[in-house]
Amino acid sequence: MGVIRERYKLSRLIPKNHFCSMPIFREEPLISWPFTDTVLFTAYDVYRSNDFWLDNVIKSGQTLKEGLVELGFPKEKTLVADTGVFELEAKKAGLARDLGIDVDFEMSNEQIFEVYELSGADYYVAPDLIVLATDSTEVVSKKVDTIKQNLVDLLNYIPASKIIAVIQGHTKVVIDDLYDFYMQQGISCFAIGGVIPLYHHSKDLLEKVLKYVRELAKSQWLHVFGLPIIALLNYYLHDINIDSVDTSALLYLSARRQYLVSSRTQPVREAIFKRCECLGCRNLSPEMASYSQEFFINLYIHNLSEAAKLAIRPNPNVGTIIDSRMKVDKIKQHSKKEKTPRQEYEPIEKTTWLTAEEVIKMQRKEGVGKTTPENE
Ligand SMILES: [Zn+2]
Repeated sequence: MGVIRERYKLSRLIPKNHFCSMPIFREEPLISWPFTDTVLFTAYDVYRSNDFWLDNVIKSGQTLKEGLVELGFPKEKTLVADTGVFELEAKKAGLARDLGIDVDFEMSNEQIFEVYELSGADYYVAPDLIVLATDSTEVVSKKVDTIKQNLVDLLNYIPASKIIAVIQGHTKVVIDDLYDFYMQQGISCFAIGGVIPLYHHSKDLLEKVLKYVRELAKSQWLHVFGLPIIALLNYYLHDINIDSVDTSALLYLSARRQYLVSSRTQPVREAIFKRCECLGCRNLSPEMASYSQEFFINLYIHNLSEAAKLAIRPNPNVGTIIDSRMKVDKIKQHSKKEKTPRQEYEPIEKTTWLTAEEVIKMQRKEGVGKTTPENE
């Protein structure tokens, strides 16, 4: 299996990179990106950005990746372009309001493909729709038709070898149908979508779906979209044997000044930076103002490094499915209790729904913005 997967230039952990909406991603130390071999960015982030840097890159005829390389981003790193319509789709699925997502505009496939074309990315995610466990058969079948058509449309712009096609659905019939269709279209890189709504709907069903799709695509690269809790990193990658997962949760954790120790989080005031040898902790000290941008960036680097380690090496304390299941149950119990003072595994369920803008807002609210000009 390992030999087959070596064809793909993807890393186990694929953090979401916000170089269009957050200038800190275009500066040192983040621009050098030694943390993972792959990063993901979204067309949504590019499309709504009115950042000048982006304008200049487009005007100069460079691709987005070329523009980043000019700033110091390593050329050999893999860039994955995702639609970012997750938030938009969540709204359509009636989930956005519950999760506090404010969707400002819609994005057509043409707009997504335009961004894809100018991105110069290495892999492109085909636009999909979230299939919910509560959808009627008719609704599921309509959504599946749209997902198939989206892929056919994308193939006009991008070769099959560079496309990541998303498997949706919760039944063998729907999953098999999409998988077979993708295979006929020459797709060899797959992802599982709709995981976050499913995680909230039924953890047992989620586990069944993950295992089933893993078995079905056993000789192909399989990615999972969305990491509702950090403890699931170990579960996805080392128990289910999924090849990769993307997340923006690490950015959110850092904005909340949470410090990752393996898959557990603790408030930064309890962290012992000296125990960690990562690039971030070398610059962190208990004396530092935890509201400063410097602190935020170094904390983010620590959280990235810690998660990247976990992605490569299983956490010996959560080696089995049973352990992970217990963890999930523990989280479930914790979430039911109001305000547990010290949660061993902090549920960060809303984190994956956050956009970069929301993280910036949160930082500002919590004080990081005090050190930076408001309009930056
Ligand atoms: Zn560290």
